[in-house]
Amino acid sequence: MKGCGQTVETKRWTINEVDEAAETLKEGGLVAFPTETVYGLGANAMMSNSVRRVFEVKGRPSDNPLIVHVTGFEQVKDYVKVFHPAAQELVNMYWPGPLTLVCKVKLGLFAQEVAAGLATVSFRMPDNEASLRLLKKAGVPAVGPSANTSGKPSPTTYEHVSHDLQGKIAGILDDGPTKIGVESTVIDISDPEQEPVILRPGAITREQIKQDLGIEVHYDNHLLEPSDTPKSPGMKYKHYAPDTKVLMVKEKDWSAAVDWVKENRLSAGVLAGPAVCDKVRADTAATFSYSDNSVEAATKGLYAGLRALDEAQLPLDVILAAAFPEENLGVAYMNRLKKAAAQKYFNE
Ligand code: AMP
Ligand code: MG
Repeated sequence: MKGCGQTVETKRWTINEVDEAAETLKEGGLVAFPTETVYGLGANAMMSNSVRRVFEVKGRPSDNPLIVHVTGFEQVKDYVKVFHPAAQELVNMYWPGPLTLVCKVKLGLFAQEVAAGLATVSFRMPDNEASLRLLKKAGVPAVGPSANTSGKPSPTTYEHVSHDLQGKIAGILDDGPTKIGVESTVIDISDPEQEPVILRPGAITREQIKQDLGIEVHYDNHLLEPSDTPKSPGMKYKHYAPDTKVLMVKEKDWSAAVDWVKENRLSAGVLAGPAVCDKVRADTAATFSYSDNSVEAATKGLYAGLRALDEAQLPLDVILAAAFPEENLGVAYMNRLKKAAAQKYFNE
């Protein structure tokens, strides 16, 4: 089967070659695909062998369920037992887009590895022309966890996927850098009687859902208090972390952080917007600047920056990364950065 050998030549497909990528996916090969959030590692969700390979090549714990990528809500209706009253409205408003819905499904439809033992499956329709063409042409739903080695920062470019998975998967559909930069918002709507719960913050925020639809969603307790038992298995794993130690730096603390670097003769990397990077460049070993100082730019550049600094020519003692206020998109950005930094701030 294509993509199932230990070392295969990993092809690089352009959007013009999407038909070959789709055929490979349908037949059981592993195909990484672009989405608006991060690159996904695609496999035919109906084929156990292929889904199992996804866990293997990523080194992903087998109790961490996968998101099924679909081409629309009609497709999901074939799989779901009962819908939450908010499901249709959420889909109308945000699909295609970075919103994943956890639903109670009929048994035995997907490869059993997809749900990792749960009675629910999560669905998303990506907002990316290349991936929608891939899914439509393949004619099968595809699992699509981030196309990286488990635990490492997720991939936001072809190069990141290739770095982690070259030789292990059939191919990568290249559509340049992703637009958003962090994974989708995951909302649990599996219980029609309960308010929707955010299991993972993303670009679609609680504030936005309230404003657009008047629907109240709340955060899973584990997101507010990491010691609480996670509802979503993936929440318990250390994620998104480079090898180099990361410290978060609040805006007011940058000059103290630079003094600390100088006093201790540290080789420090800085991940921040141009306002900070321009100031600290002379005193640090490496900087990775987002395109501007906004939280949107920070989110888009977060994983690329962590990867670039982790592989800086001069090995770094520490990466100092800009913290943002935890509101709107800042909630998703800080959720990922806190994991990369093992919750640690400079000066705390
Ligand atoms: P990734 O595939 O790496 O983007 O991670 C997907 C996230 O969605 C993980 O945190 C999973 O635990 C979570 N997830 C996927 N399916 C379900 C589900 N059925 N119930 C709860 N969480 C899920
Ligand atoms: Mg992931």
